[in-house]
Amino acid sequence: MSVTTINPANDQELRTYQPLTREEVFDAIGRADEAFSDWRQTSLEHRKELMLKVASELRAKTDEFAKLITTEMGKRISEARGEITFCAEIVEFYANGASEFLSDHEMEVEDAEAYIQYAPIGALMGVMPWNFPFYQVIRFAAPNIMAGNTVLVKHASIVAGCAERIEQLFRDSGLPEGVFTNLIIPSEFVDTIIADNRIAGASLTGSEKAGAAVAAQAGKNLKRSVLELGGNDPFIVLEDADLENAVAMAVKGRMVNTGQSCVASKRFIVVEDVAEEFVQAFKEQLAGMKLGDPMDEETDLGPLSSEDAAQRLDSQVQEAVNAGATVLLGGNRPERAGAWFNPTILTDISPGDPTFDQELFGPVATIYRVKDEEEAISLANNSSFGLGGSVYTKDIERAKRVAEQIDTGMVFINQPTNSQAELPFGGTKNSGYGRELSRLGILEFVNKKLIHHR
Ligand code: NDP
Repeated sequence: MSVTTINPANDQELRTYQPLTREEVFDAIGRADEAFSDWRQTSLEHRKELMLKVASELRAKTDEFAKLITTEMGKRISEARGEITFCAEIVEFYANGASEFLSDHEMEVEDAEAYIQYAPIGALMGVMPWNFPFYQVIRFAAPNIMAGNTVLVKHASIVAGCAERIEQLFRDSGLPEGVFTNLIIPSEFVDTIIADNRIAGASLTGSEKAGAAVAAQAGKNLKRSVLELGGNDPFIVLEDADLENAVAMAVKGRMVNTGQSCVASKRFIVVEDVAEEFVQAFKEQLAGMKLGDPMDEETDLGPLSSEDAAQRLDSQVQEAVNAGATVLLGGNRPERAGAWFNPTILTDISPGDPTFDQELFGPVATIYRVKDEEEAISLANNSSFGLGGSVYTKDIERAKRVAEQIDTGMVFINQPTNSQAELPFGGTKNSGYGRELSRLGILEFVNKKLIHHR
C-alpha cells in the first residue's frame, strides 16, 4: 500500500511513496550484507573522514532539513533546526571518539596476554519513529556505522520524505552503497527482515507494542536488540525548590516537541507546601502559549504529528475525564484544520485510573500533590515505565539522594531529562533496554571478543 505524507499543520497532502517490493527488500539486505564485508575492513580514519562529511552536510543544509521536518510532522522550525545541529554533533562525537571507544581493552591476567577486541557484527535493522525524524535515525546510524556495521532503516511512514533525504545525505557524503539503506516498507515486513540470516541485530524506538513485536522476533531468531520505548517521566518538585526555575523547566519539559518526546516531563509530582503556587504559575504560562504555524518563529506550540496522534490524545483525555480527572486547563482541540491540541492540565488522577499508567504523547500535563519527599518517590516509581525523570530542590545532596531512589534510566536535577551525545540514553522496565549515545551506545552491537595468548 502506498504512503501519503500529510502536513499536520493544515491537513494538506505532501507526497505519495510506493513501498518496496519483497524482492527489492531482499536485494537491499543483500547489498547491506555485502557492504558489511568491505566496510568492516575499512580503517577508523576512513570512516571518520566520511562521517565528518555527513556532519558538515547536516550543518550546511540545516535550513532545508529543518523545513522538511516541520512540513512532515509539525515540529516548530526553531526546534527542527536544533535537531539538525544536534545530529551533526552526534555524528562528530562518534567520528572523533570511535577510535577511543573501540580501542582494544587490555586485561590483567596472570602469565598471559589477553585483550578484548570490539568487532562489528553485521547488517542491523533499525525501526524509527517520527518524533525526531533525523535525530532518531542518526542516533542509531552514526555509532553503528563508525563501529563497522551497516544499517537498514524502516522509518515511520509519516516522515517518509525525511527518511529518503537522510539516505541521500549518506550517499552524497560518499558512504558506499549498502552502508546506510532506507527501506520504505509497511511495519508488517519488519519481522521477515529480522528473521533473515543476513541481519545481525535490531534496534527500535517507538511504542511498547512495536517494541515487544521487534524484541519477540529478535529473540526468536537469537539476535541482539535494543529498545527505546515510551516513558511517563516524573517531575518532582520538593518544598525547597527554586519555584521560578521549576515552573520554567516544567513548561520546557512538558511542551518540548509539542509534548511528543519519550523523555518529556509527564507526571508533575509536587509537595503540598508549594503545590498551589507551582500549579498557578504553570497554568498561567501554558495558558499564554501561542498555538500557530510551526514555520513561524513566534509560535510557541505547533500541531501534533498527525490526525491519528491528535485523536489518540483526545480520547485518552476524555477517558481520564470520564474516570474522574479534573481539567484545570484546555482538555480539547481547537477548531482549526490540522492535528491541533490545546495545552492541557489534568489533576485528580489516581493509581488504577486508566490514564495513570499511560503515556500522554502531547501537550497534556498531569499534576499530583504529595505530602513529602517519601510519597513523591513512591508515586514516581509507581509506573510500568522507567525512562527519565527530574527532581527540583536547592539542596543538591538531597536531589542526588532522591534521584538514586527513582527507578528510571536517567534522572536530571533541576532540569528536565534531555539528550546529549556524550550521555547514555535509555531506560528500564517497560521503557526498554540497552543504551544509545555515549560510549555505551557504540558498544551495543559489537562483538566483545576475547583474544588470549599464553
Ligand atoms: P509506533 O511504535 O507504532 O511507531 C514507531 C515505529 O515502529 C514506526 O516506524 C512504525 O512504523 C513501526 N512499527 C509499528 N508497529 C510495528 C511492528 N509491529 N513491528 C515493527 N515495526 C513497527 O508508534 P506510533 O507512531 O503509533 O505512536 C504510538 C505511541 O507510541 C505514542 O503515542 C507514544 O506513546 C509512543 N511513541 C514513543 C516514541 C519514543 O520516542 N519512544 C516515539 C513514537 C511513539 P509505521 O510508521 O509504518 O507504523
